[in-house]
Amino acid sequence: MNPFINLGIRHDIVNAISELGFENPTPIQEQSIPVLLTGSNDFVGLAQTGTGKTAAFGLPLLELLDFEVNHPQALVLCPTRELCLQITNDIKNYAKKMNNVNVVAVYGGASIQDQLRQIKRGVQIVVATPGRMLDIINRKAIDFSQVKFVVLDEADEMLNMGFQEDIDSILSTTPDEKKTWLFSATMPSEVRRIAKKYMDNPFELTMGEKNTGNVNIDHEYYVVRARDKYAAFKRIVDNNPSIFGIVFCRTKIETQEIAESLMKDGYNADSLHGDLSQQQRDKVMKRYRERSLQLLIATDVAARGIDVNDVTHVINYSLPDEIENYTHRSGRTARAGKTGVSIAIINSKELGKIRQIERTIGKKFIKAEIPTGFDVCEKQLFSLLHKVHNVTVNEEQIEQYIPRIMDEFKDLDKEQVIKRFASIEFNRFLDYYQNAPDLNAPADDFRTRDGERGERGMRDAGGKSEYTRLFINLGSVDEFNRGDLLGYICNNSKISGRTVGKIDVKGVYSFFEVSNGDVDQVVNNFKGVEFKGREVRIEISGEGTSTTRTGGGERREGGYQRREGGGGFNRERSGGGERREGGFNRDRNKSAGGGGFRDFSGKPREERPERRRRF
Ligand code: AMP
Repeated sequence: MNPFINLGIRHDIVNAISELGFENPTPIQEQSIPVLLTGSNDFVGLAQTGTGKTAAFGLPLLELLDFEVNHPQALVLCPTRELCLQITNDIKNYAKKMNNVNVVAVYGGASIQDQLRQIKRGVQIVVATPGRMLDIINRKAIDFSQVKFVVLDEADEMLNMGFQEDIDSILSTTPDEKKTWLFSATMPSEVRRIAKKYMDNPFELTMGEKNTGNVNIDHEYYVVRARDKYAAFKRIVDNNPSIFGIVFCRTKIETQEIAESLMKDGYNADSLHGDLSQQQRDKVMKRYRERSLQLLIATDVAARGIDVNDVTHVINYSLPDEIENYTHRSGRTARAGKTGVSIAIINSKELGKIRQIERTIGKKFIKAEIPTGFDVCEKQLFSLLHKVHNVTVNEEQIEQYIPRIMDEFKDLDKEQVIKRFASIEFNRFLDYYQNAPDLNAPADDFRTRDGERGERGMRDAGGKSEYTRLFINLGSVDEFNRGDLLGYICNNSKISGRTVGKIDVKGVYSFFEVSNGDVDQVVNNFKGVEFKGREVRIEISGEGTSTTRTGGGERREGGYQRREGGGGFNRERSGGGERREGGFNRDRNKSAGGGGFRDFSGKPREERPERRRRF
């Protein structure tokens, strides 16, 4: 039985939401639906966007209203046209198997006549943005005297957008005895004030800590010099080949410029801002929703209310002026129980702002390093190979070409063919990233505005972090977990699991902390180790130290150039010098350790002596 039944939702609604894939209530639905179904409380729900708020109030409304009569009984106010359409659509979907349910969307930028006509025909639920709603009220075209419930959705956003007075005027036309349900992602004092003003002893529900961001979002920041910002941004994007992201800029002009530069540079990006016509905005959003656009470059205002699931990254190309806006931006990812990353690209003067945001969201940022050109090439290569490996082959269509394809490759063995396929995309990145400099702002830049030493400098100056953060190239996609890591460390060294600090398993990589004194032992212990067929790579992460090492080699010094001389994949091009100590050069020297390029640089795997230990 669908658990929504136990919450008190009737069968025809449950059947409809089951078809939408709602098998279990989200936490906010579980906790708010029973309260709201009583119909006798004012209510304040502090919850992020994407947590299932719409059903949390939408389902109780469908239970509580009388659909035998056709006058407005519920008014939902929300900040944007997008959200308005979405809520209307959602409620209509929940009510798909009910009769006589009339929901009208009232919003600006569309024909008011159509909306007036729909209202005239009869409506029980009005979903509206404040400006257009007030316009219709002023035309005396709607009667709210029998409204029983008012929902203020994304109340903080509505206040941010300056709708306070409009909301006051609208609510003054509704009966005093109505119940008000307020939802907000954050609870600044302005929202507290309206809660006080309109509500009588409301039932308060806080999902997670007050002002805490979504726990499924990882927050990362990168420190770069202003002049390197765009290049650093592109590198972050390139290092995430399957990114589906929203990039926030501070102004319309910046939004437009970044989008244009990206398009010129061959990225699948477009902009969304207030200078576009509604039609243009709809078009961009349609492409983004359909995923024919990979990067949406947006201003805060234009991106409000965007509900697209599966956004993998939110990138703050510029930090917002208002800290509250950071929560709204990051809330565009990790929706509906998914995970996501919110990235801030900052200069060293903005570290203070990061600390402020940390206090507001109640969560720490991870300081990340702009990947080297080499890292990006490696990432892109394996992403491509993964795609090739998993591609669906249309046997029927391709069959006719097979003889010609075979003929084309008849002089090449399997390894040579693979190398050539891999190189098609790879060479593009290789060309671009040759000589790519290190874009991380040097430690000397880490001074705060008032001259204090910043985080990295402080540590260098003896600011005592007991732990060093290590990067490992394994993550949840490798079915790698904390237990695997702890087990391996403890079984292969004299280190106790208790001295291992925070372990942060991510998608394709992870971070873990070990005591400073244990670092060398741990790094050495992972040399030449393999996990489920993947060679393990450990590096000291940028946080806590200013050098990053690969199996003992100094990686940051020479950046990409240095690697190029000795890199496995360069052998074909340059013959390769033996300049680099660590990583895959080792492999070619047939010593322990080595990078992921083994299969492309040396002999076929099966011919090589097995040196790696399994983990
Ligand atoms: P909302 O916070 O209402 O915008 O919801 C975010 C997303 O989660 C929307 O795509 C909803 O369709 C989806 N959703 C809401 N509740 C559930 C549920 N109980 N099970 C699965 N998906 C849900």
